[in-house]
Amino acid sequence: MRAILTYHSIDPSGSVISVDESTFRRHAEWLAASLTRVVGIAELLELPPEEDGVSLVFDDAFENLASVGWPILRDLGLPATVFVVTGHVGGSNAWGGRDDPTIPTLPLMSWDSIGRLAEEGLEIGSHTRLHPHLDEVDDARLEDEVAGAAADIEKQLGSRAAGFAYPYGDLDDRAVAAAGSVHEWACTADLDTLGAGAMPLRLPRLDAFYYRRPGQLEAWGTTTFRARLSVRRAARDARRWAVGRGLA
Ligand SMILES: [Zn+2]
Repeated sequence: MRAILTYHSIDPSGSVISVDESTFRRHAEWLAASLTRVVGIAELLELPPEEDGVSLVFDDAFENLASVGWPILRDLGLPATVFVVTGHVGGSNAWGGRDDPTIPTLPLMSWDSIGRLAEEGLEIGSHTRLHPHLDEVDDARLEDEVAGAAADIEKQLGSRAAGFAYPYGDLDDRAVAAAGSVHEWACTADLDTLGAGAMPLRLPRLDAFYYRRPGQLEAWGTTTFRARLSVRRAARDARRWAVGRGLA
């Protein structure tokens, strides 16, 4: 089974974007000890679909990745990718756009921190300039958010970002084309493993939030793991259907 596992913030709030430090450490130590290969996304995409592999990614570039998460991964020798919101570097995630009062406002890494982690092996990807819903912006703004953010990263770090993540997982065909004109691969928020037909510019992911309880991530690759994922996906699809019709 191949999959991309998404984290946002490592903090004790219990919000939908958070896992606490002990959970994160448990995940990392289990992955380091398991037979499942932890690889960068470019390598994951080259693995045959039936092979076992996981990529770890972090959206938004929270400061707690530099202070808590990355040291754990680095010491275990695990690769990872962070998606940076270039217009908010050194600021916070107070960009609104998600109607969930449980999400904490937390500091984001500075360019200095990002550069230091990049030197230590963390892969840097783009997550736009200002974290908009890309399916709601006009063409000029779309260009600025995608190509502009990639240019910011190249200017600050001197290297190109191969990867991209769509904020909120929101995309349309224009957003996919924009991402594809600058990047080699891009992550959605679709909840799934990577099947044989995985498209590099529409990569699904698994949200680490759903694997917080002991035993859940550790069931990786088993039929139990797949069955739980199907239930989770059905619940999410039903909720989206209800929200789309104003029923929830
Ligand atoms: Zn984000």
